[in-house]
Amino acid sequence: MKFNRKNESSDIFGSDAMRKPAPKEFIPKHRTPAETAYQMVKDETFPQTQPRLNLATFVTTYMDDYGTRLMNEAVGINYIDETEYPRVAVMCGRCINMVANMWNSPEQSEWKTGAVGIGSSEACMLGGVAAWLRWRERRKAEGKAYDKPNLVMSSAYQVVWEKFCQLWQIEMRTVPLTQDHPTLNIEEAIRMCDENTICIVPIEGVTWTGLNDDVEALDAALDAYNKKTGYDIPIHVDAASGGFILPFLNPGKKWDFRLKWVCSISTSGHKYGLVYPGLGWIIWRDKNYLPKDMSFSVNYLGASITQVGLNFSRPAAQILAQYYNFIHLGMEGYRDIHENSMDVAAYCHKEIGSMPCFRNYSGRLENPLFVWYMDEEYDKTAKWTLFDLQDSLMQKGWMVPAYTMPKDIEDMVVMRIVVRQGMSRDMADMLVQDIKDSVAELEKLQYPTPTRIAAEKESSQKGKVYTH
Ligand SMILES: *Cc1c(COP(=O)(O)O)cnc(C)c1O
Repeated sequence: MKFNRKNESSDIFGSDAMRKPAPKEFIPKHRTPAETAYQMVKDETFPQTQPRLNLATFVTTYMDDYGTRLMNEAVGINYIDETEYPRVAVMCGRCINMVANMWNSPEQSEWKTGAVGIGSSEACMLGGVAAWLRWRERRKAEGKAYDKPNLVMSSAYQVVWEKFCQLWQIEMRTVPLTQDHPTLNIEEAIRMCDENTICIVPIEGVTWTGLNDDVEALDAALDAYNKKTGYDIPIHVDAASGGFILPFLNPGKKWDFRLKWVCSISTSGHKYGLVYPGLGWIIWRDKNYLPKDMSFSVNYLGASITQVGLNFSRPAAQILAQYYNFIHLGMEGYRDIHENSMDVAAYCHKEIGSMPCFRNYSGRLENPLFVWYMDEEYDKTAKWTLFDLQDSLMQKGWMVPAYTMPKDIEDMVVMRIVVRQGMSRDMADMLVQDIKDSVAELEKLQYPTPTRIAAEKESSQKGKVYTH
């Protein structure tokens, strides 16, 4: 396959390449001019939706011009080349300090104990591994078996915890989410603990619901349990979203290192830390909670800095952008942006929740995201499902996902909106109008849609009755 121009002066869209299929299996034998190759690759992404209309993702889709410029200018920098770019490591250390202090770290040393990751996933893995190794060390020292570690969290976990448990062969004990317990059921969580529990993982900003697990109540219950049993089961908080929301919008709420048993916290810098992907952070309570086996020290920064991570090479641009955001926005700027997101989310929550066909999953709005479902009465005669609404909104450019809830309430189909920087009230008005228009169209249907027929087939097998 040869993608050369017909002659020197033909335009990109007059070239051979533009009327041939793109390479799929083999590296082409010959060259293609850079501008033509660029056009082909660029156009692959052309039919995608506008990133800011994607209300499914938690990840940053808007940064200001200076932040974007810094990242573009740093695109070739490898974070791990510390001897070449020592200042990157220093900025990373400063970010770790700032995140640790934002979460009320009790650690007094100049450099707090933490690590940068590609996202929360890497940060959660590191937190999980540290908890597992600490538990193993203790068991070994006590001369006890250390071959059956387990971890306790709610069934509304993000998929990374399933990966962690699979990859490190940790038994995962999940507390079901129920309609009475829309967040982690603490009594039930404590009941699932035993001498082999490496940690409990509450979530701040639950992916499925937008709610927060009550870490303060968990800490109190765990304190009593640990006292009674002599165990010292710790807490790792998965604060992928909440870690960058609570310190600005609800600084009085105790969920972080102010609580006794919280020994590590992870977050995504690329979610409400407002940096383009991929960036995550993990902070430990102090250096005693980070097993020595996981860290290696460097001393060419004027102090000894601890380094931990699953990846070796990684882009540095996100670290620069995080440091830029901290300087530029300050506490005040983060608060303003997240307050706006909360306001816009609250507006959508109210508008959508007051439509006769919908019910909000929770009356509370703890983070700028929420889920809703179809009103049960309305559902009995509806000819459409939320999956049809998702399709209809997609045609209008919006990505608003419909999905089934985790096990035990997996019959429940919900729809979710995540409001982030870049979603204004005006856009929310457009969205709400588009939802109303879509529903009006769906209500005109004479016959049930394929997803409705499938849903009814499934529920009639389970004994639910629908009428048409
Ligand atoms: C997004 C998320 C993760 C995974 O984070 P990435 O940054 O995408 O790797 C883990 N836990 C929760 C609760 C999340 O919301």
